[in-house]
Amino acid sequence: MSNVNAYIESQQEQYLQTLFRLLRQPSISAQNIGTAECAEILMDIMTQAGIEPRLLPTDGGPPVVYGELTTASDAPTLLIYGHYDVQPPEPLEAWHSPPFEPTIRDGRIYCRGVGDNKGQLLAHVLAIKALNQVRQMPRINLKFLYEGEEESGSPHLPAFVEKHRDMLKADAMYWADGGMHEAGPRVSFGSRGILYVELNAKGAARDAHSGNRGGVLPNPAWELVHLLDTMRTPDGYCTIEGFYDGVRPPTDYERQLMAAIPHDEASFLAEWELTELPPPVDWSFHERIMFQPTFNICGFVSGYGGQGTKTVIPSRAKVKMDMRLVADQHPDDIWEKFVRYVKAHAPNIQVTRIASLVPSKTSVELPVSQTIIRSVAEIHGREPIVFPTSGGSGPSYLFTGVLGIPTACVPYANHDEDNHAPNENMEVECFVRGIKISARVFRETAALSKEELAAR
Ligand SMILES: [Zn+2]
Repeated sequence: MSNVNAYIESQQEQYLQTLFRLLRQPSISAQNIGTAECAEILMDIMTQAGIEPRLLPTDGGPPVVYGELTTASDAPTLLIYGHYDVQPPEPLEAWHSPPFEPTIRDGRIYCRGVGDNKGQLLAHVLAIKALNQVRQMPRINLKFLYEGEEESGSPHLPAFVEKHRDMLKADAMYWADGGMHEAGPRVSFGSRGILYVELNAKGAARDAHSGNRGGVLPNPAWELVHLLDTMRTPDGYCTIEGFYDGVRPPTDYERQLMAAIPHDEASFLAEWELTELPPPVDWSFHERIMFQPTFNICGFVSGYGGQGTKTVIPSRAKVKMDMRLVADQHPDDIWEKFVRYVKAHAPNIQVTRIASLVPSKTSVELPVSQTIIRSVAEIHGREPIVFPTSGGSGPSYLFTGVLGIPTACVPYANHDEDNHAPNENMEVECFVRGIKISARVFRETAALSKEELAAR
């Protein structure tokens, strides 16, 4: 393996030129700019690496760049996910070099999309190229699913995965996105789900004078406040019947992993200008983020909130809420329970479901999970910090849920990559190391037995 790593280092200049070619093509899904052109460039780069790519249409969105590399029909199969679209670059004046002109300063490549996700998805492709070139391609099959609208919420990905279930069949899904932990390399498994809802209360026909009509017209803001107050106890628990039914507690191993994540509570509190964490007090910091659901008010809008006074009885009130869900909660089940509760306690309030994602869970104890952790440790020369679940929500349930396979994410970028922000960057060292990690993961996964890969 060391000669693969040495070879990868010797090719750094050429790999950077390949990356720059991909970076110079804007591919902003939100603004419908350049995604088709970028997909073509990616196809060409994949072809040169020995992968046979195809453009597969989505139902109205940018195409998926899909590629396969087959070494033996019964070899272990890894599905690789990534996205070639990027966030809009605005505000342009905040960039120190043009957002779509890759520029190296102080060992970092500055360009929109370098970390999120072009530099990381390309690392897998270049790893294949390197392994082929040194004739050390392991006995593994790879399937690449590179979508073009992750930054717009992957609206067509669920239908795509459902439709191509058979084509995407694999033993595990592997991807690289995001930044490492400040304290070192990171590997994460799974993500929280989400249920996003809106509550609307209607009072009188229109807003009214709070003096002339005060006392005879209802106030929908109070109606919402009363409802919300009954939905959560002062010590932080949701009161909706069965809300916590599906919550799977962390295993002993997951507790160990959480305890090993560097965390300084005092500096966290100082950073957020707090003196203590909010209730419930019986969950640890990381357990709250990874293994417990939330019940959050995102916004509350009613009446007048401007300067000075306006004496008014509002006729409408609206609340937006998100609930982050953990395995094995399901947004459909929580939605049913939520609606039942509102109907029973405030039948006049209208409830609307806005969005949802199913939580995704992969056991860190699986042989494939351990193999990926070990590969990262070997390339970095130190143990990575392992996140059993991430606090955010994403489409990884499509792989764990729809395809039924484990998923693991290894962020290759530096922790301060500033993705989504001006001056997005990736250290050259992180990019090159990412190629080495991908090669290592492919080689180590190739050595897993059928039984080890079948473990769930
Ligand atoms: Zn992003």
